[in-house]
Amino acid sequence: ESHLDQIHAHNEVLNAFLEVYEDEAIAQALRVDAKIKAGSAGKLAGLVVGIKDLLCYKGHHSYAGSKILESFTSTFSATAVQRLLDEDAIIIGRQNCDEFGMGSTNENSAYGPVLNFANHAYVAGGSSGGSAVAVQAGMCQVSLGTDTGGSIRMPAAFCGVIGLKPTYGLVSRWGLISYASSFDTIGPIASHVSDARLVLDMIKGDDGQDSTLTSSVPPPISDNRRIAYIKEVVEHSSLQPEIKAAFEEKVAKLRELGYTVDGVGFPYIDHLLPTYYVLTTAESSSNLARFDGVKYGHRTSNPTDLIQLYKRTRQEGFGEEVQRRIMLGTFVLSADYYDAYYTKAQKVRRLIQDKTLAILSDYDFIISPTTSTTAYRLGEKTLDPIQMYLGDLFTVQANVAGIPGLSIPMGLDSAGLPMGFQLMTGPFQEAKMLDLGEKLT
Ligand code: GLN
Repeated sequence: ESHLDQIHAHNEVLNAFLEVYEDEAIAQALRVDAKIKAGSAGKLAGLVVGIKDLLCYKGHHSYAGSKILESFTSTFSATAVQRLLDEDAIIIGRQNCDEFGMGSTNENSAYGPVLNFANHAYVAGGSSGGSAVAVQAGMCQVSLGTDTGGSIRMPAAFCGVIGLKPTYGLVSRWGLISYASSFDTIGPIASHVSDARLVLDMIKGDDGQDSTLTSSVPPPISDNRRIAYIKEVVEHSSLQPEIKAAFEEKVAKLRELGYTVDGVGFPYIDHLLPTYYVLTTAESSSNLARFDGVKYGHRTSNPTDLIQLYKRTRQEGFGEEVQRRIMLGTFVLSADYYDAYYTKAQKVRRLIQDKTLAILSDYDFIISPTTSTTAYRLGEKTLDPIQMYLGDLFTVQANVAGIPGLSIPMGLDSAGLPMGFQLMTGPFQEAKMLDLGEKLT
């Protein structure tokens, strides 16, 4: 009820939830209460969770923040969602996001932007903006977000909460509406590291539905107290001075805790965003081909023939950014340009991955600020997509390399806006990363 009160008080302005399952949540709470009394409750008994509009939940709408899926009802639940329900969590509603997860500010949602609870003139970050603000404003305890290039960590940083992107292949993508399948991950946004850990433990592991899932997770590697930061990141010209100072304080704290912290070089820093945007637009142009007005969602009225049906449906249903990415992706996959862009980007992805893993064979963690700036003003970046893409510089490395990343709060800047600190570690070493995250919060 206290979370519903927060929703009633703030959601109209913040626009974090697109739909609130009020009666259902209360009914579930009463059921769980009875189970607790009977001693038969699951491990998440009573945990109040919100889910990003990109995740399927049986019998409920999933619009992916898009007009093209308006009125779509899921016929099955995402594995991650189902596993929360199986452990007696309470799902309180469906959260606003950038259309198909494409964006960094939540301004690409067909259902309007999400406002930052710290200051309504600023964006929430994206694409899981609704999920981050819902936790920030106490509308739920945990949100399930998705992260393809930073969409959990970036809004978590902008909103002063915790965001965990798991290793690619740890959590099933079954029931996640695809953006870029070789990058997409599902993870929690929370106020406490312990809640993020608990939720990850429940949602991870094989379900027989996602062929990219790892069936045998490697054993944990112990923490050798060695940390690297990438010099090109920490010295980047876009880094806001106050963020740099807060980051340096964290480095000092880590040294106090007995960690060695070294600066290392990373020769591919300028290749991170081009690689990410070539490959993700390619994958998304292919994934989004299924939205044709025939199978689900929006269909144009009175088409003259089948081609008109496809064209007009997609023109009316997809927003500007999604159309831009489909065109870019189709271009880099086209016969004449495939080798020059798509194949080249795949090769660079491997170089980035190899170099990242080489650093992580010497060090336990790579640390950085989560973002180079605090939240943008609403509308500040919407006119220039390249400026918008640049904001993802520090987060995409984890997705390009497939490794886990955690954003934890790093205090407020002088304007009162939250800053975020990012930890990355080797594949499947989430436990170690969460342990250190807990020590630092
Ligand atoms: N901002 C990035 C993009 O627009 C990341 C999005 C995401 O992680 N879903 O692609």
